[in-house]
Amino acid sequence: MAIELTGRQEQIIQIVKGNSPITGEQIAALLNVRRATLRPDLAVLTMSGLLEARPRVGYFFNGKQSGLLAAGVVHRLTVDAVKAVPVVVQGGVSVYDCIVALFTEDTGTLFIVGEAGLLEGVVSRKDLLKVAMGKVDLPKIPVRVVMTRAPNVVTVRGGQSVYEAARLLMEHEIDSLPVVEPETVNGKDVLRVTGRFTKTTATRIFVELGEPGKIF
Ligand code: ADP
Repeated sequence: MAIELTGRQEQIIQIVKGNSPITGEQIAALLNVRRATLRPDLAVLTMSGLLEARPRVGYFFNGKQSGLLAAGVVHRLTVDAVKAVPVVVQGGVSVYDCIVALFTEDTGTLFIVGEAGLLEGVVSRKDLLKVAMGKVDLPKIPVRVVMTRAPNVVTVRGGQSVYEAARLLMEHEIDSLPVVEPETVNGKDVLRVTGRFTKTTATRIFVELGEPGKIF
């Protein structure tokens, strides 16, 4: 998920790392190019916080900078690039087996799909707890009876940004979003489940963005 620097930008960073402080002219000389040629690269590297420019001294490598370009990254990074494998069950599966699946699959939310893998609903741990608190026969109740059903399910498309996905989680106060792609089957609009975006996914991105010296 790191954003690629150009080859020359990487070279500049290596040079500055090994020779701080170093002037633009000196970098240009080492790279055998004119100072003016480097101007856009140096602008990108200083604006991103990777290099620090001190007037009349030169460029320094900003090794402790964290969250480089973080603000931009969350808008550019797509859900598809970070999504996890969805944990899905069919609507006829019992509430009991869904509770077992929460443990075996180590997840808090299950997506309910039809035979073709199309989204029908979601069920969260508290939905299942609520049923379990009643004196009912859990192996006899199909999950489709207790799930939150489409179209009330909040979903995200793979091409949307991780920022949009995280915002949806916050706005709707939920832990997990099915990642879906819309399709038309027999003239009907349906959603194919391709992954999941959870609070854990968002937290992982947050931690990676904060890692010192990580280049995004
Ligand atoms: P829990 O309450 O188990 O901690 P959530 O906060 O994710 O988990 O779920 C709260 C409620 O929202 C539950 O009733 C659940 O069915 C529903 N829910 C969970 N995910 C979604 C979603 N993506 N879209 C709509 N409703 C959801």
